[in-house]
Amino acid sequence: MTDAPQSYLDPIVVRGRITREQPKGLPVVNLGFNELPYGPTPKVAVALEAMMPRVYAYGTPYCDALRDALGQANGLDPETIICGNGSEELLDVIARNFARAGDEILISAFGYIQFEMCARRQSATIVKAPEADFTTDVDALLGAITERTKLLFLANPNNPTGTLLPLSEVERLVDHVPPHIPLVLDLAYGEFVDDAYCDAVHTLARNRVNVIVTRTFSKAYGLAGLRVGWAHVPKDMLPGLYAARGMGSVNAVAQAAAEAALQDMAVVNMRVAETISERERVAGVLTQRGLRILPSRTNFLMVTTGDAAQTEALVVHLFEDAGLVVTRTREAGLEDWMRFSMGTPEQNDLLLASVARFLEEG
Ligand SMILES: *Cc1c(COP(=O)(O)O)cnc(C)c1O
Repeated sequence: MTDAPQSYLDPIVVRGRITREQPKGLPVVNLGFNELPYGPTPKVAVALEAMMPRVYAYGTPYCDALRDALGQANGLDPETIICGNGSEELLDVIARNFARAGDEILISAFGYIQFEMCARRQSATIVKAPEADFTTDVDALLGAITERTKLLFLANPNNPTGTLLPLSEVERLVDHVPPHIPLVLDLAYGEFVDDAYCDAVHTLARNRVNVIVTRTFSKAYGLAGLRVGWAHVPKDMLPGLYAARGMGSVNAVAQAAAEAALQDMAVVNMRVAETISERERVAGVLTQRGLRILPSRTNFLMVTTGDAAQTEALVVHLFEDAGLVVTRTREAGLEDWMRFSMGTPEQNDLLLASVARFLEEG
C-alpha cells in the first residue's frame, strides 16, 4: 500500500507524558516509552559526577574515545562508526542524505513511527509493505521497491510489535536490496536478542556499500535521557552524514557516560537478563488471563484484549487504578492493541494486579 505524498506541515502527533493528575494520588509510573526502570550503573554514576566540574567544555565532535570503545566492544573499525544525539538523530541524518521530496522511503507496515516522521520532514512518500503475523515480510518489502525507492528502514526487533525477523531473513533482505538503495537495520533492541545476533547483523553489513546498522544507549543501557546513539556505516557515506549532523550533537557528559556504560557490561547484562525474565513472566500471566500477546524479543510487550474499546478501557483503568501509563497503539491495523515496557518486578506486579482487577470487574 502506498500513502499519498504527505506535506511536512501535516503533523504527526508526538505522544507526550500524561500530565493529568493521578486520581488516587498514586505515584505515576511511565511504561509507555520503552525505557529501562533502573538508575545509572555504578561506573556511569561516577562518570557523571566526574563530568560535573567540566561542563563548560565542549565534547569532541567526532566522539573519538567513545567510537574507539564501541569499535573494541563490537569488533568494528571505529572509522566506520558515527555517533548521534540518540539514534533518532542518525535516522534523520540518513533520511536527509538520501531522500528528497517525492522520493519513496520504504518500511514494513507496522514499522517504527520515527521512520515515518523522518520521511515527512523530507516530504518523501512513505511506502508500507504488508506484514505477515505482525512480523516483517521480506518478500513484501522486496516487492514494494520501485525506481523511486531511495531508502529502506527496518527496525528488528521492531517497535511497536516487538517481533524479530530471523537472521536468515535479514540476510536474504541484505542480499536482494539493490546496492544503490541504502538499507538501515535499526538494532535498538538488539541487546535483548543476544550478542551473537547483533554481531551477525554487523557482519552482514561489513562488506556492503549500502547497509547501515543503528544502535542506541537508550534501551538496554538505560541512558535515554542522555541521548546517545551510533551507527555502523559504509565508509563512503560518512562525509555526507557528518555534514548533515550537528557538530556538537553528542554532548560531553553523554559521551563520558556512554563510555562508562561500556565498562559496566556485567551490570548491563544482568539488567537485560532480568528484563527478559520479567517479560516472560508477565507474558505468561497475561496469556493465562486470556489476553493475546505478540512474541516479543524486546523490553516491552504488545498486548490486546481482542477488542479496541476494551483495550482502550484497560489503558484508562491502568492509569486510574494503579498510576501506570502504557501506550495505546493507534496505528492503522493496531487499534486493538496496547504496548508497555517492563518495569521493576514490583511495578510489574502492580500491573498484573491491576489487570486482574480490570478483568474481574468485567
Ligand atoms: C527507542 C528506539 C530507537 C532509539 O531512539 P534514541 O533516539 O536512540 O533514543 C530507535 N529505534 C527504535 C525502533 C526504537 O524503538
